[in-house]
Amino acid sequence: MAESLAAAIAAIPKVELHLHLETSLRLRRLLERQEGSPPLGEPHLIADPSKFSGYDRLRRLRYAGRASRIADAAYTTANIAAITAQLMNEAAAESIRHVEVWVGGRRGFALLGIRGMLEAMAEGAGRTRAPSVGYGAILTIVRERGPEEAERSVAEAVACRDCGVAGIDLAGDEHNYPPALFARAIGMARDAGLGITVHAGEFTGAAGIWTSVYQLGATRIGHGLASADDPRLLDRLRDRHVTLELCPTSNLRLGLIPSLARLPLETLRAHGVPVTINSDDPILLDTTLSRELAAVAHAHALTPEDIVGLQAAAARAAFLPPDGQEALAHTVQTAALLS
Ligand SMILES: [Zn+2]
Repeated sequence: MAESLAAAIAAIPKVELHLHLETSLRLRRLLERQEGSPPLGEPHLIADPSKFSGYDRLRRLRYAGRASRIADAAYTTANIAAITAQLMNEAAAESIRHVEVWVGGRRGFALLGIRGMLEAMAEGAGRTRAPSVGYGAILTIVRERGPEEAERSVAEAVACRDCGVAGIDLAGDEHNYPPALFARAIGMARDAGLGITVHAGEFTGAAGIWTSVYQLGATRIGHGLASADDPRLLDRLRDRHVTLELCPTSNLRLGLIPSLARLPLETLRAHGVPVTINSDDPILLDTTLSRELAAVAHAHALTPEDIVGLQAAAARAAFLPPDGQEALAHTVQTAALLS
């Protein structure tokens, strides 16, 4: 890829909508630094994703990355604030102007409570050295934990609007836990004015995307790869302004696409579906938003103007009030012209 395009991408003001906090991995890194012990090395990647199917691929990747081997004692308010501040500083360093940070780890919620986690994250985000970076928290509901836990979690998130909660995400095992099971929980979130995004069409087909949009009222879909095979669905996504949060390296590492060139970007854009590019689990996947954009630009011959367009689409899909979305889009586009 041309050096100039990589430099342009680094400088372009950006918006990251789909970024898991990766609590245990960030805590592991924090502890390594605090204790002065040598780093445990880069997270491993699954050697052969084809040996695993569906959502088991992500479980396997997390296992290989030792994403869960952190002592309960590490889950302190101070440490959660510290890793969130670190994430925000990393975002600022790559010219990200708004980031939505997803959190769903069961142990953090069990040990600190949902409010405790969200308050600690907000405190850390407020402490960032770059106050120009906007922040919103997205509470991830994990399907395998069932609809009752989902309803309790949403109720706690709704009661915690003062700690930066912008939206709710439904994630986890798409195949065995269809979106409709969570209609009540997600409805509570929607009624309270929270944004709704659903991991769908990642490990299974388009049906989960249809359901997420029509039964859950999702305005964003995490991944949504399967929509590319369903032209009627693409028309609906376009007409309803449902934005796809594409996470290319995640799909590649998990064997969902054979190469970045096979990301169905052209199909989605030709249908007028709003698309964004995101890093998903950047530590686990060894990526950043800038690297995602550069790789996609290379594989799909995108211009700097295309990249700015993707950022404006992300700004307009951010879980912000409409005037906040427009202000962010304006900032992104204006600053890109000046950079
Ligand atoms: Zn994700």
